[in-house]
Amino acid sequence: MRTLLYEIANYTEAEDFSEIAASLSKKEGAAMECYVVRNGVFERLALYEEEGGILVELDSADLRHLYEKTVENGGTLLDTPEKLSFLHEGISPEKQKERMISSLVIGKGGSSYLIVLDTSVRPLHSTVSVLRDQLTFASVALIGVSAALALLLARHISRPIERISRKAKAFSTGKYDLDFSERSYREIEELSETLNLASDELSKTERLQRELIANISHDLRTPLTMIIGYGEVMRDIEGENTPENIQLIIDEAGRLSMLVNDLLEISRIQGGIAARRDEHFSLGDLVTETVERYRRLKENSGFVFRLEVKGKTEVDADKSKISQVICNLFNNAINYSEQRREIEVTVTGEEGRVRVAVRDFGVGIAAEDLQNIWQRYYKVDKSHRRSVVGSGLGLSIVREILSLHDARYGVTSKVGEGSTFWFELAAERDLVLPYKEQM
Ligand code: ADP
Repeated sequence: MRTLLYEIANYTEAEDFSEIAASLSKKEGAAMECYVVRNGVFERLALYEEEGGILVELDSADLRHLYEKTVENGGTLLDTPEKLSFLHEGISPEKQKERMISSLVIGKGGSSYLIVLDTSVRPLHSTVSVLRDQLTFASVALIGVSAALALLLARHISRPIERISRKAKAFSTGKYDLDFSERSYREIEELSETLNLASDELSKTERLQRELIANISHDLRTPLTMIIGYGEVMRDIEGENTPENIQLIIDEAGRLSMLVNDLLEISRIQGGIAARRDEHFSLGDLVTETVERYRRLKENSGFVFRLEVKGKTEVDADKSKISQVICNLFNNAINYSEQRREIEVTVTGEEGRVRVAVRDFGVGIAAEDLQNIWQRYYKVDKSHRRSVVGSGLGLSIVREILSLHDARYGVTSKVGEGSTFWFELAAERDLVLPYKEQM
């Protein structure tokens, strides 16, 4: 309305002012009256009437009031007839509320002009009520949709968690063959992957443990049965008390003691009791002594030991534990050799490391078993050949001891051609003393 007032005011000097003002007002749907005021006399310049308009009902007193109020208000005014109390007379109460009067007083070329517009506010009311209805509807719809969405989302999030926790409960009761796989959002997929991994590991450990008990009880029972059997034969039958039979009993007892020792060693290492007691020694010498011992021990079984020691082989390590590692590797090389009974041992000291490698030309290890042989109780040959002694703990003892020494270790092997087990210890560090000038 204000824009229209000023627009009309622009044309007050125009010749065809009354037409321009009327057409502008018509365009905006507003009734309009325009007066020029000279010496308190109001002369109408233009008039546009709208249906229901109230301007025609204003008398000269009303106009004067409106004029004065507008001037008082700074030149413009906008209000309902009800609020502009001076316009009361002759206007019905509905119109008082439904119409909106806006006026402008402007001075131009020695005269002042009063432009009055009168519009209906009803559309505004109805728009407001339509908008309010729509807003209410939209809000209710939105609340409904977001509640449904929240429910859906919560289900999407919680369902897989519920399923996983149900399975985890079963898991805790020792049921390890569970499949946690869930096709869901990333976190759940990661969680199910981790749980699958855990269940795989646990079931593997459980299986290995069961195997160990079976193996160990078998390993314990066999020599015991033989010892008891031979003992009884020697007691009851005359002439059976031979050195061979006694040797057999000693051998079987040795087997038992080895098994028990292995078990004790692994449980000590696992319990963290086996701390490193480092000393300074030559790994070359230790290996040489061990090879000598094995040569004497295996003199009659046709084993050939070849030994090569190169470079500086001094290390700082736990000598008895490293000796155990060497023995375990030698035992395996002997146990898993077949016709070709040769064992090659090299000790090489170079680039700050001392490397020990034990090579045999025996059965070898299949690629798929290479990862597992370091695990406790793992045996490639499940059929348990009597000729092969071992608790399935030898390499895991080796691994534990070498890890304790932060040593690198590994194996290369080919089935039917043999294996090379190796490990590397850090060479002793040369102490460089600060140079002191002689006085
Ligand atoms: P075991 O007491 O059964 O020898 P280990 O832990 O020493 O237990 O070895 C684990 C498994 O690794 C063995 O059962 C064997 O199958 C395999 N293995 C170890 N050393 C050798 C080797 N030198 N040649 C072939 N297989 C080997």
